Amino acid sequence: MADTLPSLFELSEAELVTWCESHGERAFRSRQIRRWLFQNRAASFDEMLDLPQKLRQQLAEEFSFFCGEVVQQQVATDRTQKLLIRLPDGNTVECVLMRETNRRTVCISTQVGCAMGCVFCASGMLGLKRNLTRGEILEQILRVDRLLDDDERLTNIVVMGIGEPLQNLPQLLPVLEEVTADSGLAMSPRRVTISTVGLPERIRELATLNKPFNLAVSLHAATDELRNELVPVNDKIGVESILAAADEYFQITGRRITYEYVLLGGVNDQPKHAHQLADLLAERNAHVNLIPMNDVETLPFREPSQPETENFAAILESRGTAATVRKRKGADIDAACGQLRLKKEQTDSLPIVHS
Ligand code: SAH
Repeated sequence: MADTLPSLFELSEAELVTWCESHGERAFRSRQIRRWLFQNRAASFDEMLDLPQKLRQQLAEEFSFFCGEVVQQQVATDRTQKLLIRLPDGNTVECVLMRETNRRTVCISTQVGCAMGCVFCASGMLGLKRNLTRGEILEQILRVDRLLDDDERLTNIVVMGIGEPLQNLPQLLPVLEEVTADSGLAMSPRRVTISTVGLPERIRELATLNKPFNLAVSLHAATDELRNELVPVNDKIGVESILAAADEYFQITGRRITYEYVLLGGVNDQPKHAHQLADLLAERNAHVNLIPMNDVETLPFREPSQPETENFAAILESRGTAATVRKRKGADIDAACGQLRLKKEQTDSLPIVHS
């Protein structure tokens, strides 16, 4: 059973300093602790050998280290790895490590389940249970970091796992502070991508921070008629207002917007859809990321054919809109968003594999 003490990862740097001081320790102790957490990849308080034993004991009495437990670990032939983490309240959450030549990318979840209800997505099939805490989000990043070899470092973070990140900014933003802080993982904010269903007010809120995070907007259709069917929350929002907010994001941060477009065979992958999308993005400095649908059992959608996918990309390119087809990672494991958790919820009989 996971420890029920709060995780140390719930504390900000300032809170850790305060905690050290309230335990009669000087501020430099907090720097030592953070070095163990972020740079030295410690997995327990016992490893923090330059701390007095009494301090290590006090930490262990008041905090858990990681609060969750890895209940399943999958490794794909392309070395993509996926962790299913069980949280103290029994909910599970997924995170993924993807390896490319020069990149080591972690994909993280921000919520247990999702309220957006996109009809092709496994994450929303069981609805939203709750937001993740900052510690629970940070734990995913640091557990994945600990899967890397000594000479490997995380280079990118994509907030594209389970949940709608812009519905949980109060917990997500402190995590991004930690990963970009010099005393944290010291990553550039330009290496962070936040993927959203497209919530205009929240996009504007993110823009006002004026941090160079990349914004990826999950569009999937260029008309409200089709998008309402695929992304039910679009009904109350509308494509135009999303694009207006994304334009503002670009103007303020200077970061080119990525539009994600899941290709669903026979539904939104025809030449006319590509032309509609090209019309919509014509005057915009945008990049389209085409994502051939990952098959989700029980859902009535099929993958697009390869020629159709290539044709879709070619139409966009010919109309002056940059487009790439997302490479499939971890296809032989359940690496698509929410698949593993869904299976776990449905069967609850997976073997437990400890990390
Ligand atoms: N809620 C956010 C982030 C999580 S989903 C968002 O909507 O962007 C991350 C991306 O995976 C989104 O573009 C989503 O539409 C896509 N996705 C969901 N289910 C998928 C599936 N079965 N196949 C391919 N992509 C999928």
